Amino acid sequence: MLVAQEKYVVTIDLRTVVDDKVKVSCIMPKVESDEIEFRVPKIVPGTYSVYDFGRFFTAFKAFDAEGNELQTERLTDNRILIKNSKALSTVSYWIEDTFDSDKGNFIFEPAGTNIEEGKNFVLNTFGFVGYLQGKKNQLYELHIDYPAGMYGASSLDKVSTNDSSDVFLATNYFDLADSPIMYAEPDTTTFEVGGADILISIYSPNKVLDPIFVKEQVEPTLKAQYEYLGELPVDRYAFIIYLFDSSPGSGKLGALEHSYSSFYSLPEIGHFQLGQIIRDVAAHEFFHILTPLNIHSEEIGNFDFINPKMSKHLWMYEGVTEYAAGLAQVKYGEMSLADYLAVLEGKIKSSREQFDDHLPFTELSLHCLDRTESQYGNVYQKGALIGMALDIRLRELSGGDYGLQHLMIDLAKKYGKSSAFKDGELFDTITEMTYPEIRSFFTKYVEGTSPIPYEEFLAKVGVLFKPASTKKELSLGHISFSVNDIDNRLVIHSIDQMNIFGKEMGYLEGDIIDKFDDVVIDIENYEEEFSAFTDRHEIGDKITAIVLRPNKNGKQKKVKLTAHAMSVDRKSAAQLKLMENTTESQLALRKAWVNK
Ligand SMILES: [Zn+2]
Repeated sequence: MLVAQEKYVVTIDLRTVVDDKVKVSCIMPKVESDEIEFRVPKIVPGTYSVYDFGRFFTAFKAFDAEGNELQTERLTDNRILIKNSKALSTVSYWIEDTFDSDKGNFIFEPAGTNIEEGKNFVLNTFGFVGYLQGKKNQLYELHIDYPAGMYGASSLDKVSTNDSSDVFLATNYFDLADSPIMYAEPDTTTFEVGGADILISIYSPNKVLDPIFVKEQVEPTLKAQYEYLGELPVDRYAFIIYLFDSSPGSGKLGALEHSYSSFYSLPEIGHFQLGQIIRDVAAHEFFHILTPLNIHSEEIGNFDFINPKMSKHLWMYEGVTEYAAGLAQVKYGEMSLADYLAVLEGKIKSSREQFDDHLPFTELSLHCLDRTESQYGNVYQKGALIGMALDIRLRELSGGDYGLQHLMIDLAKKYGKSSAFKDGELFDTITEMTYPEIRSFFTKYVEGTSPIPYEEFLAKVGVLFKPASTKKELSLGHISFSVNDIDNRLVIHSIDQMNIFGKEMGYLEGDIIDKFDDVVIDIENYEEEFSAFTDRHEIGDKITAIVLRPNKNGKQKKVKLTAHAMSVDRKSAAQLKLMENTTESQLALRKAWVNK
C-alpha cells in the first residue's frame, strides 16, 4: 500500500550527452530545517570497498521554487550542504561515468556507471542519484529520457513507458540503489523458473553473446536452486550483462548482486569459456536472494551509505552463498561428485596457501574495509568451507535429516526481507534452532583462531583427504611426451622442465623412445613400464634407453642413452577422493549431504 507521501522526482536525460556527461535534475521533498546535506554513497552494499561516488557528481546546484539558486558548500566528496533549505525545491547536476574514469580509486565495473553515447548506458542508480540527510525512506519516481531505439533493462517497477521515456518507482533510496538499469539496443529474453519471471539482457558490442545462449547456461542452475530451496523468495529477477570488447579499466571480470537482479561485467571471449564463467558467477549471484536479501543483520538492513558498519557474518553472506551455489548443482544433478570434490579441493588449497587460516573469520568480516582488506578474497574460499563443515556437522547431529539447506530456509522464514537480526546474536540464535554443539563449532572455527580440520569433517561423509606431500622417488627425467600419429610411438615433446637425471641421459626433443630399461615402448605399455621401472631399481643402478633420433637427412639413427638412477623430490597436491572402505553410516551421511 502506498500512502500519499512526499517523494523525490528524478529526471535523467540520456538523450543529451555533453563532454561524456549527462544531466540529472530532481524535485526534492519538503525540508523543515535551515540547512540540509545532499548525500551520495561512499560505499554500497555488496562491494565491501570505499568508492566515493560523489566524485562523479559535478556542477551541483540547488534552487528554490522561483528558480533562484541557493547557496551550497561541498563538505566532502559525498556530502554537499544546502543552505536556506526550507526554500529548497530542486537540484541539478551533471554525472560523469566511471567506466573510463582517470580519477584514481577505480570503481569495479559491476558497481560503476557507463555513458557511451549512442551505444550504452549503465545506470548503477547510486552513481546518478543521491538523497537528503534523514530522508532516505521517501519514495523515488525516476524518469529516464532515452535515445530512440534503446531499451531499459531492470528489475525495478516500470510504471509507464513510451518510445523515448520510462518511469520507474522505488519505495526508498535503498531499493533504488539496489536496482541497476542498463540502456542499449534491445537484446533480451525472458522465461520463468519456479514462478519467478527471469529477464536476461545483454550488451555485446560485437554480438558475441546472445540471450538464448545465456538462458541455456543459467536455466538448469536456477532450476537446481529452486529445487534446493523448495520455493523462490523472489517473483522476478534480472541478469543484466555488459560485455567489454577491450580490456576493462579494472582489469577484472565479475558481478554485483542485488535483491532482484545482478549486474555482470565480462569480456567478449569465446562461447565455451564465457558459458562456463556465466554459469559459475550466475549460480553464486542468484543465490544471494537467500542471504543477505532474506537473512541479514541490522548493519545491512538499515545500510549507512556514508559511514557503513560492517557485519561479522561474511562467512554466511558470501561463504554460505558460494557453498550453496555449488552444493545445489551437485545435489540436483548439474555437477558430478568428482567435479564437486575438485572444487572443494581447490578451495582448501587456496584458503591455506593464499590466506591466513588462523585469522578469526568474524574479524576478517568486521574489518574488511581496513586492516583485513587483503584477506577479503577468502570469503569465497574458507567462507564456503565453513559452510561445508557446518553442513556436515548439522547432518551428523541430526542423523542426516537437517542440513545447512534447512537452516538457511528456516532463517529466511524467521527474518525475511524486512526484519534484521542483531549482529552479535546470530550464533546463539542458530544454536537455539539446532544443537548445543553448534555453538562450539562457531566459537572454535568462526570466532576463534583454530583452522578447520577438513580431514575430520570430510571423513564423516566418507571422503578421504590426502594432504599435500613430497616424496623422493626415482625419476624418468621429467620430460614431456607426445604421441607420433603415424606409428603411435612416444616422442619427446619438451625437455624444458628436464631434471638432472634427464640431463645425464641426454634426451633431446624429437627423440622417439624405442626401448626403455630393455623393454620396447609404445602407446599401449608406456604407463605401466614407466611406473614399474621405479619399483625395479634402486639409486645407483645403471639405466639404459634406446632412442630413435632424427639426423640431418631425415633418417633415424638408434642412440643408446645411459645414466645412473637417482631420486628426486616429487610433490603431490592435497587431494579429495571417495574412501574405498566406508561404513553404512558414512554412506548414509554422504547421501544426506550431496544426494550421491
Ligand atoms: Zn557474492
